[in-house]
Amino acid sequence: MKALLCYNEKDFRMEEIEKPSISDDEMLMELLYCGLCGSDIVKIFETKDKPSVYGHEVVGKVVEAGAKVKKFKAGDIVVAAHHIPCGECHYCKHGNHTMCEMFNETNIYPGGFCQYIRLSPEHIKNTTFKLPEESNPLEALFVEPLACCIRAMDRIQYLEGDVFSVVGAGAIGILFLKLIKLAGLKAVVIDLDQDRLEMAREFGADHVINPSEDDLLTEIKKITPIGIDSAVLTVTNKFTVTDALSYIRPGGQINIFGMGLNIEPIPVDFNRIYKGELTIRSTYSATPDTLARSYDLIVKDRKIDVSALLSEVLPLSEFKKGLDLMLDRKIYKAFYKL
Ligand SMILES: [Zn+2]
Ligand SMILES: [Zn+2]
Repeated sequence: MKALLCYNEKDFRMEEIEKPSISDDEMLMELLYCGLCGSDIVKIFETKDKPSVYGHEVVGKVVEAGAKVKKFKAGDIVVAAHHIPCGECHYCKHGNHTMCEMFNETNIYPGGFCQYIRLSPEHIKNTTFKLPEESNPLEALFVEPLACCIRAMDRIQYLEGDVFSVVGAGAIGILFLKLIKLAGLKAVVIDLDQDRLEMAREFGADHVINPSEDDLLTEIKKITPIGIDSAVLTVTNKFTVTDALSYIRPGGQINIFGMGLNIEPIPVDFNRIYKGELTIRSTYSATPDTLARSYDLIVKDRKIDVSALLSEVLPLSEFKKGLDLMLDRKIYKAFYKL
């Protein structure tokens, strides 16, 4: 079968690799579309064990379902995600599902950027959802990223009328914006790219701020004199962290959601955190629960519309083109088919 192998951040090759076989409790799907995630980009640039097949935001057609698989049948179009927590370990019991050993060991095989993908019984049970005929399979590629955002929102305490800042107006920033608006809260979107900010405004941002044009603190004071209740950093670097620590209100929360490439350790003013009783926490990845809720929001109930985040679908053989368009922020997400 065909697969896109990443040798390094500049070298991607379409190669023939062995098609996965399945046992009677597994399932094989044929790739329809796979999205490129920020976390794939980090792996492309940073992970050592290469060549590898990346990709985990995947929609496919079931071509073979083992005899014991009851939930799906051949011909079904499904969206699947990659990691599953055990639900029973020390981490899982504490709600740290994404720190679970099983979570980090489980994956779709061999990855999303290839012709056929094997799903284990755990994947079939926990992270795979059937798409109705009328749904747009490309939109379903946002089920996994939105599920990660839902998990972050679950871990932030907020009350009616709270003001959030969303730092970074990329695809993840827009998904957060939509969740914040759906919860009836206020959103201030911060980015250095004016076009992206205009888009954020169209997507419902109450305020947008471009720190390269206006003084961030002054603008935030105009919106909320006490400061921002909760900041979501989809871009984490020394500038966004320092800014957030300066504009967050006493008792406020900062959620570290996205980390850039090759980030050096960031100096943090712990005096400010102590005296301001600030909370900094991070969230990484999604759980079966947030995936199911994300599926409902995007696919079943259509309460979150991601259609404006779509762009041209590229063949996997043009992988680098999509990667570059995403890195240059010309598109929100790269979409591939075989
Ligand atoms: Zn992802
Ligand atoms: Zn566990």
